Amino acid sequence: MQANVPQKHPLPSYLDPNDLGPWGDFLQQVDRVTPYLGKLGRWVETLKRPKRTLIVDVPIMMDDGRIAHFEGYRVQHNTSRGPGKGGVRFHQDVTLSEVMALSAWMSVKNAAVNVPYGGAKGGIRVNPQLLTDAELERVTRRYTSEIGLIIGPTKDIPAPDVNTNERVMAWMMDTYSMNVGETATGVVTGKPIDLGGSLGRREATGRGVFIVGCEASQRIGMPIQGARIAIQGFGNVGGVTGKLFAEAGALVVAVQDHSGTVYHPGGLDVTTLLAHVAAHGGVNGCPGTESLPSDQFWDIECEIMVPAALERQITEANAGRIRAKMVIEGANGPTTPMADDILTDRGVLVIPDVIANAGGVTVSYFEWVQDFSSFFWSEDEINERLGKIMRGAFGAIWQVASDHRVSLRTATFIIACQRILHARDLRGLYP
Ligand code: NAD
Repeated sequence: MQANVPQKHPLPSYLDPNDLGPWGDFLQQVDRVTPYLGKLGRWVETLKRPKRTLIVDVPIMMDDGRIAHFEGYRVQHNTSRGPGKGGVRFHQDVTLSEVMALSAWMSVKNAAVNVPYGGAKGGIRVNPQLLTDAELERVTRRYTSEIGLIIGPTKDIPAPDVNTNERVMAWMMDTYSMNVGETATGVVTGKPIDLGGSLGRREATGRGVFIVGCEASQRIGMPIQGARIAIQGFGNVGGVTGKLFAEAGALVVAVQDHSGTVYHPGGLDVTTLLAHVAAHGGVNGCPGTESLPSDQFWDIECEIMVPAALERQITEANAGRIRAKMVIEGANGPTTPMADDILTDRGVLVIPDVIANAGGVTVSYFEWVQDFSSFFWSEDEINERLGKIMRGAFGAIWQVASDHRVSLRTATFIIACQRILHARDLRGLYP
């Protein structure tokens, strides 16, 4: 009998044990929280394996008649608390390990703000900047059709992430709807308002970053008025975050994106910068700014740093140089576990991704509820409910962090993993 019981092993066989990528960062974060899980710790192994991992081929006809193939993924990390939920990323460097980690962080985030979802994520290895609009639409539609086996309004609900937006969500919604023979608005969130999207969804992630930043600043006695902020990534998340902090009287002194790094010690004009990005695709060359070599971004004198681009940007190589008092993780997984320790040892307060950028999925939840009830809320109602959820969740995390003398990341993982594993425990194991 014993011979039939597989050896306990934390790694799925399809991963390279020598290069775990961001999934390795997630495993380390789970190991840190395990001592705090009590009896629920018996279920912790379920967090170390995604429930369902789908890899799909996405063949499309290019405009010139060639056939191109792209690799796509949809990973459902955990569905103990509800359907899978998480974005879709189009990027040339997307990997399975990355999508697995992003799906797992969604499980943790959704539990941290207590929305009734599990965690999922998807992606395609494609550089959308090299596709025409027609090719981008075909990639999106074919990918949606391929993952249509496992997504659905009550199964798994995608949303925008890096390089995907309302237009991509509209194509995904339409493709899924054509395949099932009915208009299924609730299959994705982050849709255009005219297709069942929610007011406030586009700004929700940045708004959430701003809200937790204000909450944390208040607790450490640091005024937002006059605080200097450096932001990496000036897309959906970074752009809105910068705008809201600037409106509150902070000085956005540096912004870095894929095109370059711009700087102004007296504060960049965020409105001009957003207009420049809309017109030129990046911050580089914006009038009234000084251009810096990209590596100097980490040395900028500032009170708050907001990584809002990609994962693994703050590493042991640059964590020691960061001068901010506070790092607010707008991006998912921007800080490696080793860099996290360096920042904590240096007294830098890190507000982790799994709470800092949870505003997006919170308003996605509102959008999904509105679609099901076909009754739409005002923007004021949405922002008020978002603020209530974010402040409540952040307050609980702050309390657990001070009770257990742990980082805000470990505190968030304690609350979230307890919720996920408690649900697993209540449901029991099938069969
Ligand atoms: P986006 O595509 O709108 O913007 C991405 C930004 O990152 C762009 O400004 C781009 O120029 C910049 N960037 C890309 N590569 C870079 C590099 N090598 N160095 C510096 N900058 C670079 O994407 P987004 O939706 O704003 O997502 C940003 C991050 O926030 C991601 O980690 C994403 O997973 C996370 N996030 C997004 C949402 C959401 O609602 N969109 C929600 C939660 C978390």
